[in-house]
Amino acid sequence: MIRAVSTDPVPIAQALIRCPSVTPADEGALDVVQRLLEPLGFDCTRLVFGPEDYRVDNLFARRGGEGPHVCYCGHTDVVPPGNLAAWTDDPFAGVVRDGVLYGRGACDMKGGIAAFVAGLADYLAVHPGHRGSISLLITGDEEARSVDGTARVLEWMAANGHIPDMALVGEPTSRSTLGDTIKIGRRGSLNAHITVTGVQGHSAYPAKADNPIHRLVAALGPLLAAPLDNGSDFFPPTTLQVTGFDVGNTATNVIPAVAKAMLNIRFNNHHTSAALTERLHAALRAAGCSYDLVAECSGESFLTRPGPFVDALSRAIERSTGVVPALDTGGGTSDARFIARYCPVAEFGAVGATLHQVNESAPVDELRRLAGTYREVLAELLG
Ligand SMILES: [Zn+2]
Repeated sequence: MIRAVSTDPVPIAQALIRCPSVTPADEGALDVVQRLLEPLGFDCTRLVFGPEDYRVDNLFARRGGEGPHVCYCGHTDVVPPGNLAAWTDDPFAGVVRDGVLYGRGACDMKGGIAAFVAGLADYLAVHPGHRGSISLLITGDEEARSVDGTARVLEWMAANGHIPDMALVGEPTSRSTLGDTIKIGRRGSLNAHITVTGVQGHSAYPAKADNPIHRLVAALGPLLAAPLDNGSDFFPPTTLQVTGFDVGNTATNVIPAVAKAMLNIRFNNHHTSAALTERLHAALRAAGCSYDLVAECSGESFLTRPGPFVDALSRAIERSTGVVPALDTGGGTSDARFIARYCPVAEFGAVGATLHQVNESAPVDELRRLAGTYREVLAELLG
C-alpha cells in the first residue's frame, strides 16, 4: 500500500539540511529518507561499515524484485560549512528566502536526494503497478574517504542479488541551466611518486658520481614530449602533469644522491591505471634509473556509451526541463566510478554553482523541476 508522501522536494531537503551530517556523521539524515521510502513500499536495509572511529551509515532501499532494475544513487553526507561567520544563515537551518533554499547540502546533494524521493512519490502515485524495480543507494561516505560507502554497499548488493540494470547518480552536473549536462563518464586519476637514487659526489668530478636528476629528467622527457593520446569520442586527451620535483639540495657543487618527482595523470578510456603505471616503469628503466615508484589510482576512467539508457535519460530531461542535454565526461571523480564496475551509470542533477561554498543554495523552482525529471526518468525506463 502506498501512503501519500510529499511530492514537493523542498520540505524534504529542509529536513535533510537540518541533520548536520558532516562526513562521517549521519545525525538522522538517512532516517529522514528511510521514513519516506518505507510507506512507498521500499524494503530498507541499513549497512554500517568502517572502523570504530569512522563509522559510516548507508541505506539500500528497493521496491520490487523483478527487472529491469533502476537504481538512484547519492549521498547524504556533506562537507564542513567552513567559516561560519561568512554564512548569512545557520548552514544547518534550511532557510528558504526569495525562492532559494540555503544550507550545506542544498546543492550537493541533499537537494538531489529530496528530488529523488519526491519524484519517486509522484511517479508511484500515478504508476503503482509499474514494471521492474526501483532502488536507492544512499551513502554517508562520499565527501571524505569514499571507502566505506558506495563501494562497500555495491559489494553487499552483489552478494545479495541487488545489482541494478542501470544506475543514475544525482550529483549536480548541470552547468548553467538545469538539464544542460549529463555525465556519461569520468576521467581516471593516477598519482605517482618517483624516487631516483644515484651516487652523491663533487660536481667537478661527475665521473665519480651518478646524477639522479639527469636520470629522472631523461625518464620524464619522453613522457612530456608527446601527448599520451589525442582524446576519444567523448573524452579530451589524457594529461600528464609533473606536480612536484624535489632534490633537497642547496649546494651548487654537490651532485645529490636522490631526486624525487610527483605526477598526476588524468586519463581517458584509452588507458587503465595499470597500463599507465607500466609505462612509467618502462620510461624509468629506459633512462637507466635505480628507482622506487609508488602509483595510486583514485579512480579508473569509465564511459557509458550512448544507447537506450542514456537516450531515455535525455528524453526525460528534455520533456521536463525543455533543455536538450549535452553528454559530458568532464570534472573530477565521483562515486559513479565504483558503480561503473557493475552496470551502466550516468549522472544528472542540479546546477552545481555553489557546491561546497559558503551560503550553498538551490532555487526551489529548480529542485521541483529536478524532482519532475527524476519522475520522468522512471516513466521512460519502467513505463
Ligand atoms: Zn556530491
